[in-house]
Amino acid sequence: MVNTHVHYDHVGWNTRRDGDGWVPTFPNAQYLIPRADKEYFDPRNHSLAPERREGNRLMYADSIAPVLSRATLWEASHRIDANLTLESAPGHTPGSSLLRLQSGTDRAVFVGDLVHSPVQMVAPEHNSCFCEDPADAVATRRRVLGRAADLGELVIPAHFAGSGVMEASRYGEGFAVTRRS
Ligand SMILES: [Zn+2]
Repeated sequence: MVNTHVHYDHVGWNTRRDGDGWVPTFPNAQYLIPRADKEYFDPRNHSLAPERREGNRLMYADSIAPVLSRATLWEASHRIDANLTLESAPGHTPGSSLLRLQSGTDRAVFVGDLVHSPVQMVAPEHNSCFCEDPADAVATRRRVLGRAADLGELVIPAHFAGSGVMEASRYGEGFAVTRRS
């Protein structure tokens, strides 16, 4: 089970309600969680502004704490198997990550919330309101999309409409979506 980052809309399937508590949805799964996000969103570390702490405390209690005994907290990069590798891509959150898929000459990159809207392809200097570190988010977005455009990697964000799969090319200061499927 891959959590690209620890925002509530990306960790909700980690657990399910069972009686009065929360249990892992997939009891035999290994949960892969970026260590930097585990630390940042751990309520004991008080990383967030006071008005965000109660919502974060609930998310952490429901969706992270119940799977920690089954979790691998990884840093920098983590190879899952011969074809799948997790790679740190900080900015949206401190531990935001990418899942790279390579099979033969085919390459795809699942980018989590690196981009929320196609507007950020044309204008990658724009962040969503959920990006924790604006400067890092922009730098990482440019780096990852630039590599995808140069190497012909399919880009798969979490929040685009439809399948969301696209090819990107460099266009001016940003990127163009050259094909969607
Ligand atoms: Zn997010």
